[in-house]
Amino acid sequence: MDCIFCKIIAGEIPSKKLFADDSVYAFADIDPKAPFHALIVPRRHVDSMAELNAGEADAALLGHLLATAGNIAREQKLDKGYRVVINTREDGGQTVDHLHLHLMGGRAMHWPPG
Ligand code: 5GP
Ligand code: ZN
Repeated sequence: MDCIFCKIIAGEIPSKKLFADDSVYAFADIDPKAPFHALIVPRRHVDSMAELNAGEADAALLGHLLATAGNIAREQKLDKGYRVVINTREDGGQTVDHLHLHLMGGRAMHWPPG
C-alpha cells in the first residue's frame, strides 16, 4: 500500500521517533505547527477515525493512542497544556489517509480552530 505513514512505521522513510510499542508509533511532525508537534499513529493501517467504531478493539486502540499522547506530553513537560487533534476525512482537513493524532504544545492555542 502506498501510505507515507506505513512507510515511516516500517522505517522505509526516516522519522524522529518519540515513542514506539507493539501497537503505536509516535514521531515528530515534519512541518510543525507549534514548538512541539508530534504525530501518534497505530501500526495497523486504518484510513481515518471514521473507519473505527465503539467496539472493544477499536475503543482500546483509540484509548491507547490518547493515553500515549498524554504520556508524551508529560515527558515533554507540556505542563501548561497542549492540544490533541484528529483531522478526519476531507472536511476535517485530513491530508494523510492513515489515522493519526496530532499532539501540539509549547504555545497558547486558538479557539475556535479554522
Ligand atoms: P493531517 O493534515 O492529515 O491531519 O496531518 C498530516 C501531517 O503529517 C501534517 O502535519 C504533515 O506535516 C505531516 N507529514 C506529512 N508527511 C510527513 C512525513 O513524511 N514525515 C513526517 N514526520 N510528517 C509528515
Ligand atoms: Zn498506512
